[in-house]
Amino acid sequence: MKALIIRNLRKKYANGIEAVKGISLEVEQGDFFGLLGPNGAGKSTTIGIIASLVNKTQGEVNIFGFDLDKEPEKAKAQIGLVPQEFNFNMFERVIDILTQQAGYYGIPYQKAREKSEFYLKKLGLWEKAKEPARNLSGGLKRRLLIVRGLIHEPKLLILDEPTAGVDIELRRSTWAFLQEINAQGTTIILTTHYLEEAESLCRRVAIINHGEIIQDMGVKQLLSTLDKETVLLDLKAPLKEAPVIPKFECKRIDALTLEVSFHRHTSLNDLFLALSQRGCEVMSFRNKSNRLEELFLDLVHAKQGTSS
Ligand code: ADP
Repeated sequence: MKALIIRNLRKKYANGIEAVKGISLEVEQGDFFGLLGPNGAGKSTTIGIIASLVNKTQGEVNIFGFDLDKEPEKAKAQIGLVPQEFNFNMFERVIDILTQQAGYYGIPYQKAREKSEFYLKKLGLWEKAKEPARNLSGGLKRRLLIVRGLIHEPKLLILDEPTAGVDIELRRSTWAFLQEINAQGTTIILTTHYLEEAESLCRRVAIINHGEIIQDMGVKQLLSTLDKETVLLDLKAPLKEAPVIPKFECKRIDALTLEVSFHRHTSLNDLFLALSQRGCEVMSFRNKSNRLEELFLDLVHAKQGTSS
């Protein structure tokens, strides 16, 4: 059973921006799926469409067998959404926010109280149940959003940057909680900026850029792609062409700069030895950039290379 099927999804906003340009995607039931990509890539728009917060321009969305256009109520009932913004009433009490939300899904009050208690206890929020939401710290407000998204026990939980701005301790306990509900059968889709989050949680990831999926793969494959490291070497004397050195991929950026890529566990001594033997003296060296950003850039360039 597929938890989610998206076919040829497009979104053009009123201002003319094409945020999503024909995305197709499938997520298996029980999966933990990550949607990665730089800012402005179209992740929130895609999630907004799945959760019926954004009207699509074109395409099909099917959630656990229910077409979002043909059976919207049934499709929507399968989903719990944890948005990026705190979109609850800050003056309402935590417990009331939850029981009201449960009410939208037709859950009777008593049952809603029980479920609220269960999830609030699980996420360490129970003692705040009778306080207004504004009294919670940023990290706990984010947890309240998670509980609210789960209150009707959806089969598919969608989280938009669930740990953005959350301190490391709270982030890790949130991860443990998400892993637990995934192990119990809830399919999870999240967007994230943190490579560590995708590494720790996701089984599959799709990378989205400029409204298009540029890669859809298992997380192990993502990590092996990220096993490549790239450094920039500043040279003492000008170089006419890049040297050929086994295990190292050398590229001449300009006469005094060499870019070298290699597998993360390769000893750099071999590189410096080979360069010395060629009379090439290195004055300094630096890492090129963050691994995930580098991967985004590599994939975007590869894509441009194949489409031009
Ligand atoms: P991401 O979540 O990956 O950062 P978004 O889906 O938020 O990306 O944005 C994709 C593009 O759509 C961006 O160029 C953004 O400026 C634009 N966009 C997002 N929401 C709106 C909106 N409501 N109206 C107009 N443009 C929007």
